[in-house]
Amino acid sequence: MRLSKWGYYADFALYPVWIGALATRALWHASIAVAAIAFGAIALGLAVWGGIEYALHRWVLHRVEPFRRLHERHHAHPADFIGTPVWFSAMLFLIVWQSLARWAPGFLAAALVAGLMTGYLVYAAVHDAVHHRRVRAGSWLYRAKLRHARHHQADARCNYAVSCSLWDRLLGTERATAIDRDR
Ligand SMILES: [Zn+2]
Ligand SMILES: [Zn+2]
Repeated sequence: MRLSKWGYYADFALYPVWIGALATRALWHASIAVAAIAFGAIALGLAVWGGIEYALHRWVLHRVEPFRRLHERHHAHPADFIGTPVWFSAMLFLIVWQSLARWAPGFLAAALVAGLMTGYLVYAAVHDAVHHRRVRAGSWLYRAKLRHARHHQADARCNYAVSCSLWDRLLGTERATAIDRDR
């Protein structure tokens, strides 16, 4: 969806505050054992996000209407402020949080969602950087930029992951970029 500049960057205002509130909820007055479980749950949420990011991009944004049509606009105009409105992602996170809170203790649900949201924020930051920022040649971000550029320009059926290439490697959709081949 085409967004205003403020709408596009709203993720970076909302999610750090929300993640901080959830982490506080998870760790407030926690014993050492509960804090260890909470940190583990945050790490688990972060790891699970990588799979969600891959699955959403590959099987939803490239296949399911109306998301496919909206994502096509991003492929055609990669530098424009086209993305997921913050109200939509926040609504999905609220649904996930409330669903988790039904079967898990409150601190655990908060920690898991804090991890998922942190993954989403990292994805949003990396995706913004690869399209809108100059990045140092040879850096990790530069490689992410080349990987994503290949997805945009040469072959939209590869390099679905943006923030972490693990799932492309696992599912056989990773394609080399120019600097990979030069190595
Ligand atoms: Zn992109
Ligand atoms: Zn795509």
